Amino acid sequence: MLFTDQAVQCTENIDCWSFDVLSANRVANGQILRHVTTDLLNRYGLIHKFKIQTAVLENFMIQMESGYNTYKNPYHNSIHAADVTQTTHYMLFQAGLANWLTDMEVFAMLFAAVIHDYKHTGTTNNYHVMSRSDIALIYNDRSVLENHHLSETFRLLKDQNLNILQNLSRDEYRDFRSLVIEMVLGTDMTSHFNHLKIMKKLLAHQEFSVDKAKGMALVLHCCDISHPSKEWRVHYHWTKLLLEEFFQQGDKEKELGLPFSPLCDRNTTPVAESQIGFINFIVSPSMEVLGTFLDKVQLALTRDIGPGEGSLSAEHEEKTAPNPRIRSIQASGKGIKSVSFDLGMILESTIKQNLL
Ligand code: AMP
Ligand code: MG
Ligand code: ZN
Repeated sequence: MLFTDQAVQCTENIDCWSFDVLSANRVANGQILRHVTTDLLNRYGLIHKFKIQTAVLENFMIQMESGYNTYKNPYHNSIHAADVTQTTHYMLFQAGLANWLTDMEVFAMLFAAVIHDYKHTGTTNNYHVMSRSDIALIYNDRSVLENHHLSETFRLLKDQNLNILQNLSRDEYRDFRSLVIEMVLGTDMTSHFNHLKIMKKLLAHQEFSVDKAKGMALVLHCCDISHPSKEWRVHYHWTKLLLEEFFQQGDKEKELGLPFSPLCDRNTTPVAESQIGFINFIVSPSMEVLGTFLDKVQLALTRDIGPGEGSLSAEHEEKTAPNPRIRSIQASGKGIKSVSFDLGMILESTIKQNLL
């Protein structure tokens, strides 16, 4: 089921910034998340490396898709998860980030992207707190949804028929889990400004001194809010879906006599203005920091590699060359540096176009 012609067809453009996940989902009969995930785990060699059984992966992905679609959310559903996973792959592969990470870390990044909104209720953290929901009580009003996505996912993994991490060693599992928790908690918008400030400070140092977990969390957060930097049609569609979800929350708030959350009143929300604000104050500054971070990663890698190719130390090569696909792309002349330049150009020009 996971390796059919249909699976191949719907993931055809998976390496491209212009990958249209909404159309791909139609080709995939609504199952794009399982196809994107399986294709990527396979291509990064992670199914082999971590001895993931195909049947277990299939069971896990069926549960993922069904959990994502429990509340029939217009935006926070399995297609959004597939979008964030494919964009994360773009950062790993085209921007060369995978060369900086071990296999386990690449696996953790893709896994975090797949599960980052699992069982999303279609309502915001603010709504959970204000309506005193069960999950707000469980997580004491702190990063309610993000804790919920993580906890529900790791609960799934207690069933061996679903546990795609069953062949990780005890230490690998501990490190993997800790990275995934840091990344998914980092998608909470309340930590956005603080995290960006810390990252900017770290990047201003002469020496490249960014902690891997922090860097990985920045990447996932940027991928999560990346749709304004995609093609207009794709961005427009995502915005319409998210606002419809927000408006449905506003309808519930009205019914419960709660104050409207920001952007949730369908009668008074100025859509275009709010989007310009979101792009100018949130997305653009994030992408700028991401660009600097990716440039620094590549600079650090280039320094390690030295002027001639192949001069990586054996230890470094083992740590930083997780994926033969990436090596072969480099060998075919598409060096990391030029690809990074492309990425900066793509982000800058599409964001500007979308603002016009
Ligand atoms: P997540 O909910 O995990 O997908 O985190 C991304 C967050 O970014 C959303 O919950 C929104 O708060 C915010 N966001 C994404 N796209 C938009 C948009 N077009 N307009 C306003 N906020 C957005
Ligand atoms: Mg989220
Ligand atoms: Zn998300």
